[in-house]
Amino acid sequence: MTTVLTDPVGLAAGLIHCPSVTPDDAGAIGLLAGWLERLGFTCHRIESATGGPPIQNLYARRGTAGPNFCFAGHTDVVPPGAGWTVDPFAGQVMNGRLYGRGAVDMKGAIAAFVAAIARRGDNADSVSLLITGDEEGPAVDGTVKVLDWLTARGETLDACVVGEPTNPARLGDMLKIGRRGSMNTRITVHGTQGHAAYPHLADNPIPRLLDMLRRLTAEPLDHGSPLFQPSTLALTTIDVGNAATNVIPAQARAGFNIRFNDLHSSASLEEWIRRTLAEIGGDYDCAIEVSGESFLTQPGPLSAAVSDAVQRITGLRPEFSTSGGTSDARFIKNHCPVLEFGLINQTMHKVDEHVALSDLEQLTEIYQAVLDRFFEAE
Ligand SMILES: [Zn+2]
Repeated sequence: MTTVLTDPVGLAAGLIHCPSVTPDDAGAIGLLAGWLERLGFTCHRIESATGGPPIQNLYARRGTAGPNFCFAGHTDVVPPGAGWTVDPFAGQVMNGRLYGRGAVDMKGAIAAFVAAIARRGDNADSVSLLITGDEEGPAVDGTVKVLDWLTARGETLDACVVGEPTNPARLGDMLKIGRRGSMNTRITVHGTQGHAAYPHLADNPIPRLLDMLRRLTAEPLDHGSPLFQPSTLALTTIDVGNAATNVIPAQARAGFNIRFNDLHSSASLEEWIRRTLAEIGGDYDCAIEVSGESFLTQPGPLSAAVSDAVQRITGLRPEFSTSGGTSDARFIKNHCPVLEFGLINQTMHKVDEHVALSDLEQLTEIYQAVLDRFFEAE
């Protein structure tokens, strides 16, 4: 039976049938490419394996004129975990809902976008899809590699919507116009081991580590900026691992994660961290890993097109937000204005992940209206 390309429920169920737990593709990218080829897209499969097993990615485009509107997303999913009441890869419909791993994050949104293109029919508008199989994993062989490939070909994107699930409670609640940055720091303070009864013969690293952490957490990093929540510093671990009661340990370790807004950069925060630690002094190591800088797509034509479309279909005016974790939008923002709008995120990564069939239908109508508005405005 041929898949009906205008039906987001059938398309989403088809993708859910592929158990594409990162890094496995399980046929998901090929299935999607087959649908897009039927809709007149030229599909490029981009495989990358620098970070481990080979990852399947897809760039598909229809139309040659500018501007090029891109939909970005991922076909990979997190492992189902235990405790499901249905088969996580069966794509079962029950009580007006489609169940399965990836239903909202984010095979449902990919299905809605494909159905939106199918419903718009043939036209000369340039639409592309940038789909990766490595978003839930290390994200080194995914979107970044496709963007490099596009740059090498001289191919440009003019606007991008990422289909991550952005809505807290109702479809139309929220679109994301940026994200906070994220960085992780690990501190190891070195001392000299000794007898707890003779501390003058030892050098206890724990008080110095505590002084460092106290100083780093003494003041809030900021109080937020117009479109961002306050930055946060969360201690994630303090490790000494000393089982003895009469021994001063030789080392003490701690780790923390910073989520930062547009008042900082990872460089300015690293400078502050290293300066603060140096004020305490002594022998220590500090390793800092940056996951991504904060970014913001200023409210403009793209956010207007999306929020107008959302309001027309749902009656809700979506809040512009920069809350939540990181997504691949952090890479795309270097290429074109990008924002995120998808399904309701209540069941993402949980057991019995599901999407209301009515939400899949409405998201399809929203994506169709976004494309209509975007190309009308040109
Ligand atoms: Zn996702």
